[in-house]
Amino acid sequence: MFDELYNNEHEQVVICSDPDTGLKAIIAIHNTTLGPSLGGTRMWNYESEEAALRDVLRLSRGMTYKSAISGLNLGGGKAIIIGDARTDKTEALFRAFGRFVDGLGGRYITAEDVGMTEKEMEWIYSETKYVTGIPKALGGSGNPSPVTAYGVYMGVKACAKKAYGSDSLEGKKIALQGAGNVASSFARHAAKEGAKLYISDIYEDKAKALVEEVGGELVNNPDDIYGLDVDIFTPSALGGVINDDTLKQFKCDIIAGAANNVLDEEDKHGQMLLDKGIIYAPDYVINAGGIINIASELEGYDEERALNNAGNIYNTITDILSYSEEHGIPAHKASNALAEKRIETVGKIKNKYSSNAHVSGRFGSMYKRFID
Ligand code: NAD
Repeated sequence: MFDELYNNEHEQVVICSDPDTGLKAIIAIHNTTLGPSLGGTRMWNYESEEAALRDVLRLSRGMTYKSAISGLNLGGGKAIIIGDARTDKTEALFRAFGRFVDGLGGRYITAEDVGMTEKEMEWIYSETKYVTGIPKALGGSGNPSPVTAYGVYMGVKACAKKAYGSDSLEGKKIALQGAGNVASSFARHAAKEGAKLYISDIYEDKAKALVEEVGGELVNNPDDIYGLDVDIFTPSALGGVINDDTLKQFKCDIIAGAANNVLDEEDKHGQMLLDKGIIYAPDYVINAGGIINIASELEGYDEERALNNAGNIYNTITDILSYSEEHGIPAHKASNALAEKRIETVGKIKNKYSSNAHVSGRFGSMYKRFID
């Protein structure tokens, strides 16, 4: 186990066990150089404990990079609860989990992820203040999708600027995979600017409803979306959609969308995109509006400020694409390199003694929420 932790440079892994409630959870803290670790809790019926550990280690490391590249004062962490999200949820189980989170004293701050809803977050919140993504009624930020979608919209514009010299989406043909929460909100921004949308969803009624609202064309067979003759492909449904098969079909100049883990094999398919001359906005950067939104809770939630911060994804993507071009490396590698650079340089300033460093500046504001 320690080989695994050393290899990926994880700081801490906490195994949480409570036979009374049936809780089996793992909290992984990858890196806290930039601030307390933040990342969602995923409830999933893992096939084995090894698979659960592997997942939480991978996901927590991803959060370090996501927060670092997004300019947040946060480190990377993640938690998993082993169980069936449809049948195994009880108040006591989540409250027990909340107590474990609380015991870490703020080294890990949790949030919603796959298999979780606001209800479970409220239960966790009964036992710990180290939770974000709580309902608006409780002072939280509520549904992150509009902020995520705005970040995606700004990220797509940054890619357009690189590809066409102008970031206007007017007249641009955009293929939208998925007509869910993020995609719908993105579609409204893009349509308002005069983009022509091609919309698909495995549930045709969802795609149809979005076409009726924002205009554009319905793509009847969701699998046809990859080969459309469009300028931009916006994956907003599932992962793994950039793969050997779809790369043969793409005719677009840009791939930029909300979906997580879109590169089926990161290094191989990231390189293939570069070789094909397709501009790619790394998924974890362009969809960071979600974490930017919940991180805003730590300084007192304000939707306008969260949207403004998500809008900065435009500059981040611009920097990544420039670095990628300058160094001749795929965009996902450029993004990782820039994230590591920020961790290293900001990490070094902590060598200098500063009285009250933990309660002054922006960190001070963040922690106000946790001080009674
Ligand atoms: P959602 O469930 O509201 O929407 C996803 C949509 O994709 C659904 O309508 C579903 O029917 C459709 N879909 C599934 N498979 C499809 C296929 N093969 N072809 C076409 N459509 C298909 O989810 P969401 O919240 O809009 O999130 C979309 C993606 O963005 C996810 O990958 C999610 O992990 C990622 N993401 C979301 C947020 C957020 O704030 N909601 C933040 C970061 C990342």
